[in-house]
Amino acid sequence: VTPEGEGHLGTDDLSALSRMELDDAGRNPERLAEAIHALLGEREGVVPVRDIARRLDIVEIREADLKSVEGVLVTTPERPQGMIAVNRNSDRRRQRFTLSHELGHFLMTHHVMVGSDGFNCSRGDMVARVGDHPSASINRHLQQEAEANRFAIELLAPKRRLRTHLNRQPDLARVLDISERFEISREAAARRYVELHSDRLAVLFGHRARIAYSRKGPDFPWLIPLKGRQRPDLPAGTGGLSSIDEADPADWLDRPRGVELSIQVLRQREDRFMVLLHAEHTDDPDHEDTGGMEDTAERFSRFNR
Ligand SMILES: [Zn+2]
Repeated sequence: VTPEGEGHLGTDDLSALSRMELDDAGRNPERLAEAIHALLGEREGVVPVRDIARRLDIVEIREADLKSVEGVLVTTPERPQGMIAVNRNSDRRRQRFTLSHELGHFLMTHHVMVGSDGFNCSRGDMVARVGDHPSASINRHLQQEAEANRFAIELLAPKRRLRTHLNRQPDLARVLDISERFEISREAAARRYVELHSDRLAVLFGHRARIAYSRKGPDFPWLIPLKGRQRPDLPAGTGGLSSIDEADPADWLDRPRGVELSIQVLRQREDRFMVLLHAEHTDDPDHEDTGGMEDTAERFSRFNR
């Protein structure tokens, strides 16, 4: 057994990896992905998700003409082994995410199979997360899909290896770097970026004049519900990455008062676009960063009330 985090394996040597070694990770998706990386040891470069899956008893991986789904895992409830098919018509980076997602269902044996022979996962499932829904509507299916996604991104773009991408001024150029370095889609890279960055960020994805969906980081203010609606005006530009401009918070935020907002756009092929919003609070007393004694005294009095 390789000591945790001290593996000195060659790039293709995954022999330390086995499902038995992962048993202790339990049901937590991030811990499971972290346990895989611990067994692989410190590595640079793209995460070899295919080889990892093969090592973990996925006996066949293939591309298939899938109609309404992105990925299929064929297995049985006991999970002796599995076969994964990914959508032939999706690009390679999306296929990598799908494969990682299906591997998540395979390893999290508490996930209940969808059909009699495994899991069928749609494009919507690949972006499912529990935070998007009121708690009453969280069902088992959504829960499982969200867990498979948490596993998939932690396996492909581990938190630990993203630190250097997160410590600078927010910029979609970093998102492009992450997408290249980890071979994940720009969309997945952007979601990961706003989720982990310590600044208040949100990203919105759209096509032509409409917003398809948005993701915000934990401290970003509430967005106006924009899904499916006409988008606010974007900074001018023809293609590629825009500069970072000031935006009118009233165009985007539910409560724009006291917030300064900057905006950057990435225009992509076929009129698709991605918008990064960066919020900074100005005169909102709840968020005012006074620092020093006044702040401490204020907090002290609150605790002693
Ligand atoms: Zn799924």
